[in-house]
Amino acid sequence: MEIFEATVQSTHHLSPTLKRLRFGVHGFTSTGIGDEYVRLFFPHTKDRNLLSLPVADGDSWRTVEGQPDAPMRTYTIREAGDGWIEIDFVVHDGGIAAAWALDAQVGDRIGLNSPTGLYECPPDATSQVLICDLTGLPAAVRIAELSDARMRTELVVEIPDDSSRLDLSHVPQLVVQWIVAGNGVAPSVLPQVARKAVEQLVDGEPRPYVWVAGQSAALREIRKMLHRELRWPNTQYKVIGYWVEQAEKWRERWDALDASTKSSLDALWDSFEDKDEALIAYESELARLGL
Ligand SMILES: Cc1cc2nc3c(=O)[nH]c(=O)nc-3n(C[C@H](O)[C@H](O)[C@H](O)COP(=O)(O)OP(=O)(O)OC[C@H]3O[C@@H](n4cnc5c(N)ncnc54)[C@H](O)[C@@H]3O)c2cc1C
Repeated sequence: MEIFEATVQSTHHLSPTLKRLRFGVHGFTSTGIGDEYVRLFFPHTKDRNLLSLPVADGDSWRTVEGQPDAPMRTYTIREAGDGWIEIDFVVHDGGIAAAWALDAQVGDRIGLNSPTGLYECPPDATSQVLICDLTGLPAAVRIAELSDARMRTELVVEIPDDSSRLDLSHVPQLVVQWIVAGNGVAPSVLPQVARKAVEQLVDGEPRPYVWVAGQSAALREIRKMLHRELRWPNTQYKVIGYWVEQAEKWRERWDALDASTKSSLDALWDSFEDKDEALIAYESELARLGL
């Protein structure tokens, strides 16, 4: 694990709800995986020049003793080259990262760590379905760009409004379906969308690879469908919660749980050998607790 300092080189809006920032960064090496993500470390006060970067510590990082913690958020590397990276930020109300990106100026600095990728398409797959909201769009488009041109790729993306559509015609094998819903402005329809998209494709063989990213609670049904109902092996799909709706209320409810409830939740991880089953049980319990 390494920690890097990155400096804004340019900024522009891809749409009213997505802002791309290009950063100069020395020594950063991309994994080459389409959904690779990093932790970004932001200024801890309104002073954009005051950065308290953590230091690398084995596979993780730690705040320097006596220094304030830098607020940390997770973002996808949309594109990486020699000495630069690009990140697409969703513009939404509230949030340290979104507000910082909206005001970002050339010369502003942040920190980031080494990247990790999760997308793992089996080598014999001939088609894939990418399902996401706006937060997953940067990763989904990069996945499509990096995939073999013979790979049939269907992208179903939930956007807050029609102005969020992007021109993706530079990826010829990509079939895109835009749906206005979710993204914190309306209930997500991703569970219904995922069922429909998968049902249409499973008739054919071999099975498509399915990659899903978006608002965490909206994805729970999708994980259950793929794992419990369809009994797909977990090598055939990836379902990744990218953000929590009304995170402040979620945190308040979590903090209000008593210690025994929290330890029963923790114990669920060890109760199942199958880690997907453990995650489903954990998420079902969270849902029962209103989380
Ligand atoms: C692996 C991974 C990759 C990601 N890649 C990207 C990426 O490339 N681009 C990107 O924009 N996001 C990405 N995200 C999501 C991003 O980390 C979250 O949206 C994060 O919460 C934003 O931080 P914030 O400081 O702006 O808001 P927070 O301080 O976390 O939240 C403030 C408020 O905003 C709400 N909120 C947070 N995110 C959203 C949203 N997207 N829409 C509406 N309301 C929201 C919260 O519920 C809360 O009420 C990724 C997440 C993961 C796990």
